[in-house]
Amino acid sequence: MIETSHYLSSSVKDLKPSGIRKFFDLAAGMEGVISLGVGEPDFVTSWNIREACILSLEQGYTSYTANAGLLELRREISAYLQETTTVQYDPETELLVTVGASQALDLALRAIINPGDEVIVIEPSFVSYAALVSLAGGVPVPIHTKGEMEFKLQPDELEEAITNKTKAIILCSPNNPTGTLLNKEELTKIASIIEKYDLLVISDEIYAELTYDEAYSSFVSIEGMADRTLLISGFSKGFAMTGWRLGYVAARPEFLSAMLKIHQYSMMCAPTMAQYAAIEAMKNGKEDVLHMKKSYKQRRNLFVSALNDIGLTCHVPGGAFYAFPSIQSTNLTSEEFAEQLLKEEKVAVVPGSVFGESGEGYVRCSYASSLDQLQEALKRMQRFVQSRS
Ligand code: PMP
Repeated sequence: MIETSHYLSSSVKDLKPSGIRKFFDLAAGMEGVISLGVGEPDFVTSWNIREACILSLEQGYTSYTANAGLLELRREISAYLQETTTVQYDPETELLVTVGASQALDLALRAIINPGDEVIVIEPSFVSYAALVSLAGGVPVPIHTKGEMEFKLQPDELEEAITNKTKAIILCSPNNPTGTLLNKEELTKIASIIEKYDLLVISDEIYAELTYDEAYSSFVSIEGMADRTLLISGFSKGFAMTGWRLGYVAARPEFLSAMLKIHQYSMMCAPTMAQYAAIEAMKNGKEDVLHMKKSYKQRRNLFVSALNDIGLTCHVPGGAFYAFPSIQSTNLTSEEFAEQLLKEEKVAVVPGSVFGESGEGYVRCSYASSLDQLQEALKRMQRFVQSRS
């Protein structure tokens, strides 16, 4: 027997496992659980997209693609981004197709971080940000946004968090786990601080397609920001393609070639068959996206107003498919709430604390479930909340 831990990298040893996984594992061992825990669409990928993949296999397209991805796909993504953000990205030098938005985030951080560089993470946030910053040798610096402000980043809070070691900030709008959407005016205020302190932005816009009231504003569409932003997006959420593992990053050529260097040694290229499917998603997928968006909006309206009715105060999330209600009326911590709700009523939600300190007092519920399931979950949650008050 060897002392395994002696051989492990200390940066990995210091990393905490994702708090979300723990709840999946707990719920997986139980029967009759309604899961509002998973962060993925409940739609199956549209048939035309699946068929494009099958066709590519029939044609024998099973080799590697160019490191940056199929040029045809990059051209489609470039046209799509021009339409949605108004910014032009050269398919040859400014776009890289990745293994999910997850890999795009990892590449972006590894390409810009020197040891000790600080990267601002706006919490509550997607669980991977702080971990990926640390793995890249950087120091994640959290900003704790507040429920009373619908978890919107306030410009003065941003300014206070900046030091002479700050290299970049990670923005995510619409946000996971809060569903918070920042509008053009709010993004413009953030942009002026970015400019003032000469920072970079990693803008995670993976939920861009899923906004319900206000139009989506991309950070890169704010004047001057495209040059200092690494734009992350992909197919997982809007196009219901989580399992295909396909995303992309768009950035000015110097940033892109730095990321491409890492990508060509560590990944070679994103999966070929998924890239063929993604071409079809870009060409003919928009109508289905609108259909899914309409359905999420209907569910959001029902779910969020019912949460407020049962005493779990919740702002109306402008995008993504998450509600982030306050559970403070129950006097439980978010971890206790999630554990007891799962054990007693078999509803799985994620404790807000896993998304950072300011997530405490809240839980994340994904409403990407059928209306029947949502209604049953609400009934159970109401019973649970009443038993605690
Ligand atoms: N960013 C955010 C904010 C997410 O919520 C997720 C998925 N949960 C990702 C990135 C990763 O997406 P992908 O499946 O494309 O890797």
